[in-house]
Amino acid sequence: MIPTIDSQWFKSCEAHWGSVRALDVFAIAVHNQKLQGAFSLQSLDRVVQDLSEQPYVKDLEHMPNTGLGVVWFELTGRTDNQERMWLDLQVVTKVSLTCQRCLVPFVFEVNENIPFHLVRRPNQVESEADDIDPDAPERLLGSGRFDLMGLIEDQIILGLPYVPKHDVCPKTVDNRHLPELSAVEPLENEKKSPFHALKVLKKDI
Ligand SMILES: [Zn+2]
Repeated sequence: MIPTIDSQWFKSCEAHWGSVRALDVFAIAVHNQKLQGAFSLQSLDRVVQDLSEQPYVKDLEHMPNTGLGVVWFELTGRTDNQERMWLDLQVVTKVSLTCQRCLVPFVFEVNENIPFHLVRRPNQVESEADDIDPDAPERLLGSGRFDLMGLIEDQIILGLPYVPKHDVCPKTVDNRHLPELSAVEPLENEKKSPFHALKVLKKDI
């Protein structure tokens, strides 16, 4: 299930601001529960340690207009007709990345929705069926005290680009001052070329 990510969705997540405590994910799946929330990106050490400096958002009143520094999520539990347990995780966040082509920072949005097949025992995480079907849903070892923040953190890390780049780099001030290629007249240039003069001399000999 993929929620509609609109302004109402963000508001509804923000109504539950703050770090998420360990929780019983089996209960969430069995009782078809939905959990929404929002918290500061700075709570996720493994994400922020590899990024350039991100804004620290203490609370929603201090959220920058860009939306940087906040993580929104929704976790939905369900069981299917084979009594398998599922968790659908939606994660949205915005981070500031530095373009590796032009070195100008830009805002990158992580927007991931992942269905997890929830299992109770470690030996259920790997299965032969997964080797046959590469599109098999990811299995997740559940717990009565599950670290949801850790799972959200993993999904953000997986959603970040390996080499951050603008789709199209902005024209920087330096670029604007470079002469346009069309401004150079090739004919005029050729006339002044010393090699051209040399050619003329050779003809005369
Ligand atoms: Zn760029």
